[in-house]
Amino acid sequence: MRKRSTRPKRHATAGRVRSGWRAKPERSAECRAIFRALSEFVDGTLPARDCRELRKHFENCQPCVEYLRSLESTIRACRAYQSSPAPPVSSSVRKAFQLALERAESSGKP
Ligand SMILES: [Zn+2]
Repeated sequence: MRKRSTRPKRHATAGRVRSGWRAKPERSAECRAIFRALSEFVDGTLPARDCRELRKHFENCQPCVEYLRSLESTIRACRAYQSSPAPPVSSSVRKAFQLALERAESSGKP
C-alpha cells in the first residue's frame, strides 16, 4: 500500500536547492576562473603568466589539483583512443575490395 503523495513538489523546492550550493566554501570565484582556464592550461595554450598563477593556486587548493588530474587523465584517455590503430577490415570487405581490384586489372588489360 504505497502512495506517491510524499513526492516533493518541484516548484516549492526550487528555491531551496540553490541555497545548498553555498555549502562548499572551497569553490571560490578564483577556483571557477581556474576551472575555466584549465583546458587551455592542459592544452599548453595558456599564457605563461596565467600558468604561473594556476600553479600557485594549485599549491593551496586541493580540489583544483584533483580536478586538473581528472582532466589530464580524461585527455590522456582521449588521445590514447585517437592514436589506437584502425580496426581490422572485415573479410567480406577485403574480398569485395580484391574482387574490384581484380576486375579493374583484368578490364585494363588489352
Ligand atoms: Zn581552487
